[in-house]
Formats: sequence, C-alpha cells, structure tokens
Amino acid sequence: MTATVIDGKAVAQSIRAEIAEEVKKLKQDGIEPGLAVVLVGQDPASHSYVKGKVKACEEVGIYSEVLRLQETISQQELLQTIKQLNEKPNIHGILVQLPLPPHISEEAVLDVIPAEKDVDGFHPINVGNMVIGNDAYLPCTPHGIVELIKWTGTDLNGKHVVVIGRSNIVGKPVSLLLLQENATVTMCHSRTRNMAELTRQADILVVAVGKAHLIGREHVSPGAIVIDVGVNRMENGKLVGDVRFDEVAEVAGYITPVPGGVGPMTITMLLANTVKAARAQSRVGDEVKG
Ligand code: NAP
Repeated sequence: MTATVIDGKAVAQSIRAEIAEEVKKLKQDGIEPGLAVVLVGQDPASHSYVKGKVKACEEVGIYSEVLRLQETISQQELLQTIKQLNEKPNIHGILVQLPLPPHISEEAVLDVIPAEKDVDGFHPINVGNMVIGNDAYLPCTPHGIVELIKWTGTDLNGKHVVVIGRSNIVGKPVSLLLLQENATVTMCHSRTRNMAELTRQADILVVAVGKAHLIGREHVSPGAIVIDVGVNRMENGKLVGDVRFDEVAEVAGYITPVPGGVGPMTITMLLANTVKAARAQSRVGDEVKG
C-alpha cells in the first residue's frame, strides 16, 4: 500500500478536545450549550446515529436531550413539538434525524427549525449564506470533509477536485465549500459520461454515491487524495465505502477508511455548530472553529 490512511477518528478526537475546552470556558460564563435531537420512528440506523451524537455531546460537556416520537405522529404534531423546542432557552441547536416517515415532509420540518438553531446546516437561510460565502452553520458532513482534506496539509488553491454525487446533503455543499477554498471543482453524477476520464484528472476525489465498491484504481491518478463518504452495509453486516479500499490504496496518496474516516468528522462538526450556536445566542466572545 502506498497511500497514507487518513484516520478520521484521530482527527475528530483532536478537534473534539478543542471543543471540550471551549465548552468549559462557556460554562465558566454560565452558558451550557444544549442540543435537542428529534427522532421519529424505529429505524435502527437512525437510533444508532442518535446514540453516537448523544455520546459525543456527553464527551465534550454539551447538554443533550432526545425526543423519541412514534412513527405515526402527524406532521402537524411534529411541527408543534419542534416549535415548543424552539422556545426553550437552554436548547441552542435542534436537529431532526432523517429520514422521516413518508407521510411527513422533510422540507416542512426543516423549515420550522429557526436558522439560528439549525446546527445541521440544512435550513434554506444557512444554505443561501453558505452559497454566497457568508457566515453560516455549515452542513456537518461537507464541513468535516474539508477539514479532513486540510489535515493532509494540502493547499487547496487551484487543485482539481472531482466530486461524485450531487445530493443536497453531501455532493452539492462540499463542491461549494471546496470552490470557496479556491479549488477547481468538477461534479459528477449518475448521468455523467466517461466518468473515469474525469476522475483520473483529480488531485482530490470525493466520492459520495452510496454504491459499494463503485470506484477502483482505474478512476484514480497516482498520489491523489481520495475521500470516501459512502456507507454501505453488506449482506454479512460489514460496512464498506464506495471505494475499493485495497486497490485504490495502492495508487492514492491519501485515503479515508470506512468506517473511521468521514463518519467521526460529521458528528464533530455538529458539536462545533452547537457550541457556535450557544455562543451566538448568548452573544459572548469569538466563534469557535466551525
Ligand atoms: P444520495 O442522495 O442518494 O445521492 C447519491 C448521488 O450519487 C446522486 O447525486 C446520484 O446521481 C449519484 N450517483 C448514483 N449512482 C451513480 C453512479 N453510478 N455514478 C456516479 N454518480 C452516481 O446520497 P447521499 O445522501 O449524498 O449519500 C451518499 C453516500 O454517503 C451514502 O452512502 C450515505 O450513506 C453516505 N453518507 C455518509 C455520511 C457520513 O457521515 N459518513 C453522511 C452522509 C451520507 P443523480 O443525482 O444523478 O441521481
């Protein structure tokens, strides 16, 4: 193997240590950052993600509460519950774990979380501010990806980044954030023709598709940084990414593993956004990393 493995857990841990220090300082000023997580239904993956978020909050000293709601809750009741959370002064960040049951509109739910408490960075106001380069709560996974790339010490100026996937939660926002870092960004998706020809031109390849082992060594130029966002559960229960790790690691310069790459950074950026929200709502001092 020639590639250096980017240890997302270790990078996340060092950022979390900084966040814990920040929380300690805020508490000295009488402010305890608080996060509310709304979980609807019984989806096992969602339950496990929420558990991870609560544990991470505990580790850095952020107060958290989880509202577990029945799958059958009506959209109106859910919106009402979120509105009640909006009124709580000890809750600075609110996130609704997606996906929601089919009878509930994600758009309507995300709209009702005020932009200043939208620590997931999905509210149209935050998305708009991100697009024009203003201060915003950045979406957690894309922000985490940018931090991982920076961790390699790579100067993004003028680098050619190819992003595969154009979803609103990963592909589109990560492309915009990298553009703001002065990278030249090419976006690929399911209709892209001759994708390997494009990806082989990448200094940095970000893969966010959700198809196990889609990307192999034929897609990667020697020395490239490969960020694998995909999380796919195989029949044997094993989690794998979108990238064929072993063969791509033979050519890449850096590569993220799955699990242990992008995943831990996503939760870390959520913690950073919650602290940022607590600061902003309490109007003290400078912002934390994020
Ligand atoms: P998504 O909404 O399903 O989007 C997938 C994207 O991939 C779409 O833009 C689609 O193109 C494109 N695509 C599908 N097949 C393709 C192909 N053969 N070649 C090129 N592009 C193709 O998925 P997502 O929400 O962005 O998530 C992507 C993956 O990241 C999933 O595995 C998800 O679990 C994972 N994820 C991980 C984290 C984390 O924290 N680690 C966070 C979020 C997501 P079209 O637009 O043309 O359909």
